[in-house]
Amino acid sequence: MSSVLRKTLTDLTVGDLMIPAEKVAHVQEGNPIEHALLVLVESGYSSVPVLDLEYKFKGTIAKTPILKSVMGMERFEMERLAEIKVEAVMQKDQPTLTEDTDFLTCLKVVINHAFACVTDEQGYFLGILTRRAILKEVNKSMYTTK
Ligand code: AMP
Repeated sequence: MSSVLRKTLTDLTVGDLMIPAEKVAHVQEGNPIEHALLVLVESGYSSVPVLDLEYKFKGTIAKTPILKSVMGMERFEMERLAEIKVEAVMQKDQPTLTEDTDFLTCLKVVINHAFACVTDEQGYFLGILTRRAILKEVNKSMYTTK
């Protein structure tokens, strides 16, 4: 039986539920947005984390702001995708969690975010916690608690 199954909902922490960094698609802040768009389209994710060269979390990047940044008066100016850097377009104001963050805090965060990034005390990227992982646990607990 996994540690997740043995714990009650309120005993769960981010560490029990997160997707580890090595399984998370990400881009670097210095990449051109063309690269970020390729990663987003290829992976099928609407948004992915942005890291710096040291693997510290910097923000997230999504398809819509990328496309807005190259939107001209009459057409998308796709040639500009190679000129604009991820750091100019990314969303910087994102909540972060640590591995010991409790379940109820996570629940509140994923009301407004499809995922949240997990970092250590120095800001190094450890992984993500998705809304799906939280909802799975809530759903499971509905069937196991009386
Ligand atoms: P989900 O709850 O699984 O639909 O994931 C919600 C969001 O989290 C996705 O739309 C992506 O933005 C992000 N996400 C989930 N899994 C990954 C992953 N392996 N790599 C990068 N981003 C991810």
